[in-house]
Amino acid sequence: MASPGHDPLERFCARCGAPLVDRLVEGRPRRACSACPHVVWIHPTVGAVAAVVADGELLLIRRRIEPFRGHWTMPAGYVEVDETPAVALAREVREETGLLVEVEALLDVVCNEDDPRRRGLVVAYLARPVGGRLEAGDDAEEARFFPFTALPDALGFANNRRLIEELRRRGLDRRGTP
Ligand SMILES: [Zn+2]
Repeated sequence: MASPGHDPLERFCARCGAPLVDRLVEGRPRRACSACPHVVWIHPTVGAVAAVVADGELLLIRRRIEPFRGHWTMPAGYVEVDETPAVALAREVREETGLLVEVEALLDVVCNEDDPRRRGLVVAYLARPVGGRLEAGDDAEEARFFPFTALPDALGFANNRRLIEELRRRGLDRRGTP
């Protein structure tokens, strides 16, 4: 019986220090304390991803880190505990690309299933640039706009492909073009 998603290095109860064990709690195996009632609840991490679209082009960054190192993805990151997803998204875009963006609309909420670090729920927004200067930073090696007709082959994360299809389906790939 294995408890899905738990950190294998987490071996002791944070409350009382006794060893953690796998125990059936509310219908499935979970890491729980062997001495006190503490249960280690594992939930998906919340992330935010930005489809920044301008003049028929999509903003992508080339990843400096694994997973998908060297691949192109839309700017994205984890939501801090005191942020809304939209605020986190604007922060991540600024850190990774130097651009200031305005969040325009919710595109989708997707599950990230190909990130070996952890499973995530990712909130995807459509956004547009409103200022700043394009310059790669943080986890990004490069940051640039690609025409939807010439996107790079090496796209990271299955969700990015799905979201690009969604943008095309809504005609947003042609937004701002003659
Ligand atoms: Zn305990």
